[in-house]
Amino acid sequence: MPQRLSMVVRFQRLYAVMRVHMEQGWRAFFTTLFDLIAPPACAYCQRYLEKRIVFCDECMSRVQPIVSFMVPCTSTFSMTVFAAASYQEPIRSLIVAKRWSNSVASVQLGQLIWEKTYFKYASVDYLVPIPLHWSRQAWRGYNQAQEMAQVLADKRGCSVAPILKRVRRTPFQSSLSAAKRGENLKNAFTLAAGVDPVLFSGKHIVLVDDLMTTGATLREAAKVLRALNPASITAVVAARAR
Ligand SMILES: [Zn+2]
Repeated sequence: MPQRLSMVVRFQRLYAVMRVHMEQGWRAFFTTLFDLIAPPACAYCQRYLEKRIVFCDECMSRVQPIVSFMVPCTSTFSMTVFAAASYQEPIRSLIVAKRWSNSVASVQLGQLIWEKTYFKYASVDYLVPIPLHWSRQAWRGYNQAQEMAQVLADKRGCSVAPILKRVRRTPFQSSLSAAKRGENLKNAFTLAAGVDPVLFSGKHIVLVDDLMTTGATLREAAKVLRALNPASITAVVAARAR
């Protein structure tokens, strides 16, 4: 990595840590400041860019857009899911980056969802990030879904509502067979303490996660949210693995 770019990466890491703890106004201020001090570079090939976008034209042309699709949740309810792309490079590296606590990647995934999906036209009052178990969040320092939700909320002018709680530390979905994935997540979520159902009744709720594989995670989360009687529940994910 060239000397100057490694400085950029250091700035990005510092900013990523600060960003998690900021109010919206401060976040906007520091984003502007960050734009001034760190030259924009492609998130995949690190090539310099003239403006701050996620990927250079060449890498972006490798992002295969996919149409929205339905995930059946119960016999009478299916959920529309918007995905920015299928799970392959260059998006894959941004999703995998969370393992090294690179929350800049989460911001970039939020940006990609905004650019590549019809989320901007969907009905939304509240964005609900899929939570990590508290022990996993403590280890990682942040939740990628929550970071992505914040980016989308800032763009859309709606609120992030972290109203789900993960009650069980489940094995990683990717380590399980398709048949065991649904079983693994049964009753994995509950409503967080102190959630006022009145706030969400008749509102449009959008679930946010980084990666969808079988849809079992979104399905279990949606089942819990249905108890709030929202007008609709849809979901956005950065990538869909098949
Ligand atoms: Zn590139």
